[in-house]
Amino acid sequence: MDNYINTSDFAHLRDNEDPLHHFRGRFHFPHFNEKEALYFFGKSNWLMPKTAQYALIHELEDWHKYGVEGHFLATKPWFSYHKLLTKPLAALTGSLESEVVCMNTLTVNLHLMMVSFYRPTKERYKIIIEAGAFPSDYYAVETQIRFHGYKADDSLIEISPRNGETFLRTEDIVRTIEQHGDSVALVLFSGVQYQTGQRFDMQTITEAAHKAGAFAGFDLAHAIGNVELNLHDWNVDFAAWCSYKYLNSGPGGIGGVFVHERHGNSPDIPRFGGWWGYDEATRFQMKKGFVPSQGAEGWQLSNAQVFQMAVLKSSLDIFEEAGLKELFKKRDDLTGYLEFLMKELLIRNPAIPMTILTPTDKEQRGAQLSLAFSERGRELHKKLQDIGIIGDWREPNIIRVAPAPLYNSYCDVYNFSKTLEELCTEIWG
Ligand SMILES: *Cc1c(COP(=O)(O)O)cnc(C)c1O
Repeated sequence: MDNYINTSDFAHLRDNEDPLHHFRGRFHFPHFNEKEALYFFGKSNWLMPKTAQYALIHELEDWHKYGVEGHFLATKPWFSYHKLLTKPLAALTGSLESEVVCMNTLTVNLHLMMVSFYRPTKERYKIIIEAGAFPSDYYAVETQIRFHGYKADDSLIEISPRNGETFLRTEDIVRTIEQHGDSVALVLFSGVQYQTGQRFDMQTITEAAHKAGAFAGFDLAHAIGNVELNLHDWNVDFAAWCSYKYLNSGPGGIGGVFVHERHGNSPDIPRFGGWWGYDEATRFQMKKGFVPSQGAEGWQLSNAQVFQMAVLKSSLDIFEEAGLKELFKKRDDLTGYLEFLMKELLIRNPAIPMTILTPTDKEQRGAQLSLAFSERGRELHKKLQDIGIIGDWREPNIIRVAPAPLYNSYCDVYNFSKTLEELCTEIWG
């Protein structure tokens, strides 16, 4: 595509040609001074699908009608409700249906996965992560290490970009894994880095981990629904995600996990058990002695969180209708347009102390540009907020802008760029 032009006419033209443009109408946009906000806050809480409330009301009505019998009598029986999410989650993650299950929240799932895939020994006890990982992931690995009686000081290995560089080079990740070799128990990386927006080469990282004899797991908080995933073919051991970011499932939305087929039925992989992970056919005989279900479902602890799942389903139905191929194509084009406009803005206004943190290579990013301001970034962010442009501020100096292919338009991106330039010239002249 490319050949972008910095005019409102061009943005309108692209919107008219965009086969996904009408999906914008499926979401509620927050209002600001009685008009719709320009919404780019993708990183934390994406927009509410209009169908979410009907999905929820439907379950409330079945509860009203059936009480506990809704487990079997509801239009979508609660007993197996989690299975409604299996197919869409398998499509989003590039997995077999037996490899994914919808359950819990992200940090809980990371811990459950580490119960199975981080079992340190005196020789092999290290966890390798990217430096600057999300705090909750840090706390999870740090406390897991301590839980097993090891020290984070020498067990937690962080990989940083080279001096003066912003992104991690895949070759450096591979080299670090090789260096620590036999002492590595687990390589736990983000799929997409939440600060910089860098998309990691999950397949190569997995291969390197396996070569060292370690497991490879991924936190997909910023990757699922945002970038292409092929967890099964990449041989990833496990992954976990939340759904309230790119998947629009709302506050506290339900997470999920991937466990590769080769581990799903393996008696060598220990796990924490609960009744919902018990073999389905005999679950209600309520016998002693844990017999896990086959595949990822065997990691479930508790019965399905139906209300959360109903909302997530309403959103995943929209993803399915739009089609991942189309979405990812628009993602690249829309983020590319934003990048083009930001670069033009810098050429016209060299005094603006802005750098684009996110990689230029489309293979190394998703729907996000992180803009770093070496000074007065907070002031700029406040000005944006004051006029109803919702971006996302990250300490110490980053504004993250995430144009969502499902509901952001080329005009949104154009208007953002125009307003940003006006505000920047107010500050930097
Ligand atoms: C958002 C996010 C979390 C949040 O974890 P919850 O358990 O869902 O609160 C954890 N890790 C990463 C990388 C995230 O982006």
